[in-house]
Amino acid sequence: MDYQSVLERIARDMAPQIGSGRPAEYIPALASVDPRRFGMAIADVDGKVYGVGDWQRPFSTQSITKVFTLALVLAAGDDLWERVGREPSGNPFNSLVQLEYENGIPRNPFINAGALVVTDRLQTLTGDASSELLEFLRQESGNPGLAFDPEVAESESAHGDRNAALAHFMASYGNITNPVSTLLDHYFWQCAIEMSCADLALAARFLARHGLRADGSRLLTRSEAKQINAVMLTCGTYDAAGEFAHRVGLPGKSGVGGGIVAVVPGRCTLCVWSPGLDERGNSVAGVTALDRFTTLTGLSVF
Ligand code: GLU
Repeated sequence: MDYQSVLERIARDMAPQIGSGRPAEYIPALASVDPRRFGMAIADVDGKVYGVGDWQRPFSTQSITKVFTLALVLAAGDDLWERVGREPSGNPFNSLVQLEYENGIPRNPFINAGALVVTDRLQTLTGDASSELLEFLRQESGNPGLAFDPEVAESESAHGDRNAALAHFMASYGNITNPVSTLLDHYFWQCAIEMSCADLALAARFLARHGLRADGSRLLTRSEAKQINAVMLTCGTYDAAGEFAHRVGLPGKSGVGGGIVAVVPGRCTLCVWSPGLDERGNSVAGVTALDRFTTLTGLSVF
């Protein structure tokens, strides 16, 4: 497969769409990003990377990091699935409403409530969830320069009442066990990690390699890697996961920074970035570019 030619074709086809949608505004530090940015990278299972546009430019990973914290917690053998479900929520990613009906157990690990529980578990397991995550991402991407963006973390914290409410509410059910303020700090730092499309495509390769890390050691069992891919497919793109599966046909995880990571098990990982979001929170150009990729190559899980 000539991935480089495919990427160049997609970038050409995408030109009229780039700039559509609006960058996230509820985190002020994200609102000022240029909506005309577009980058896309593919990493094959052997670590060769292809890219186009702004593929080496760091951006705010936001909810994409939820995939990696989930992997670290499952890799530690945690009994996470007793605390978090794995069904689509059908609600916005920061919704509170279902939590009360469902006794403080979030629907899945990719809505904010679920991710807060996962980060709480990682904090208990490691004592420093955000540093553990950053170190893991540095190793898997091969980029020791990866860092948090303090301005984004600060901006999230200053506008984080909704996440604080979710965390306190779940703590009242005993589903958060660390002090809420500590948990929120780690969660906001986690969301504020900056990575490029190349970094993210490389870091996610364990999902295409059935659980094997970049150095060949095993992070997850084959079955656990399958489970994460399955939850990405059903819950990874907010309350538009059905639409994403219909158009793209790959496990994917988006973030409000405008990035989306997608996985072709056994073949490659992709990351696309363009900051303009649709009303559900997914990158408009990003979803279209992935749709083009599976249409042009026939590489999908279906
Ligand atoms: N830091 C964002 C929040 O908690 C992440 C949201 C996202 O990317 O989905 O609201």
